[in-house]
Amino acid sequence: MPKTLGMRCRECGEEYPLGPIHVCELCFGPLEVILNWDEISSRVTRESIQAGPPSMWRYHDLIPVEGPPTVGFHVGWTPLLHAKRLGRELGLKNLYIKNDAVNHPTLSFKDRVVATALTKAREFGFETVACASTGNLANSVAAHAAEGGFKSYIFIPWDLEQGKVLGTLVYGTHVLAVEGNYDEVNRLCAEAGGKYGWAFVNITLRPFYGDGSKTFGYEIAEQLGWRAPDHVVVPCAGGSLISKIYKGLNELNRLNLLENGVPTRMHAAQAAGCSPITTAIQTEAEVFRPQKPNTIARSIAIGNPADGYVAMETVRKSGGWAADVTDEEIIEGIKLLARTEGIFTETAGGVTVSAARKLAQQGRFGEDEVVVIAITGNGLKTQEAVADKLGSTVPIQPNLQSLADALQTDRLLQAV
Ligand SMILES: *Cc1c(COP(=O)(O)O)cnc(C)c1O
Ligand SMILES: [Zn+2]
Repeated sequence: MPKTLGMRCRECGEEYPLGPIHVCELCFGPLEVILNWDEISSRVTRESIQAGPPSMWRYHDLIPVEGPPTVGFHVGWTPLLHAKRLGRELGLKNLYIKNDAVNHPTLSFKDRVVATALTKAREFGFETVACASTGNLANSVAAHAAEGGFKSYIFIPWDLEQGKVLGTLVYGTHVLAVEGNYDEVNRLCAEAGGKYGWAFVNITLRPFYGDGSKTFGYEIAEQLGWRAPDHVVVPCAGGSLISKIYKGLNELNRLNLLENGVPTRMHAAQAAGCSPITTAIQTEAEVFRPQKPNTIARSIAIGNPADGYVAMETVRKSGGWAADVTDEEIIEGIKLLARTEGIFTETAGGVTVSAARKLAQQGRFGEDEVVVIAITGNGLKTQEAVADKLGSTVPIQPNLQSLADALQTDRLLQAV
């Protein structure tokens, strides 16, 4: 029996045969892959998962591809660490960091969604893959396309960070820098997908792409000893990750693999300069209003999020909340995480840390509750965000006298 049975509309329930499709023809709702739960529940146990590889593929039975992975063999199984020093600053005893800043191969959580989508793209017979990206997806699609021998076309807004652009070009792909913001890039790609028949991983293959993010949730629970946390704080761009973490936790519970059910409250984090999802949650609006992004957190600067409604629904259903933070607070968040835990995250991580601090200050977490902060990307890729905010090096001569002079007179050394 196949593991995936077809596709179903999230909104109206209409079913479709399995294929590279993503919207319902009747209501334009997002499609999801239907898994064969009879088959899965007869096979999946804690032991069967633990016998798998130290990568996201230990959950292969729950990922919507039929055969073995064909790219991204080492993606996932990133550290979950008890962040005691950051926890002290936030007044939380059981604060954890899920650290996808060190996800392989391209240092963001996007490797999970791309490994899934390109494995499925091969099963569907595509030879050319593409994406609309705010940066991390570009890096990951380019790397995995190279690994899998796909031709690739990467569409980005023209003004992305250097690290993200270089970290795409290096793989020998075609990069199209669109003179517009992400939402305009995305619109162009939706049209190009129809015309050229390429597999746009986050458009054409979105239902498969999205389910790659479930592994972020599976890993958190397994690493906590098969327990779902009380809270997860997640940075939102298109709004997919937050809902898929929650979906992942609920799937493990459905398989009776969790000790404590799913008490988890999901919290959304965005930049104040691009906050359609958090604004809708905070104002208890029925629908979100698209925004024009203006923030240094470019990787999550999506003004018209494809899964914005699903993200709002996830937060509400789970009893979570939302916080957005200014660019200044983003930089503070990056520095706070680095100074307390030795982790250099990108701007999206700065958003998440500062948003978590805000939610803690509002009293939304119990002191002893288990709170997980989702760190989704690496700071080496967005160096310009902090380049002039870190002080500078102290120049000295290679002798002890020069060192002694510097220690005595230099303002920076004395400040430490
Ligand atoms: C893409 C991205 C996100 C958010 O992903 P969505 O699923 O689109 O909400 C968060 N953090 C980073 C670093 C990203 O690149
Ligand atoms: Zn529908």
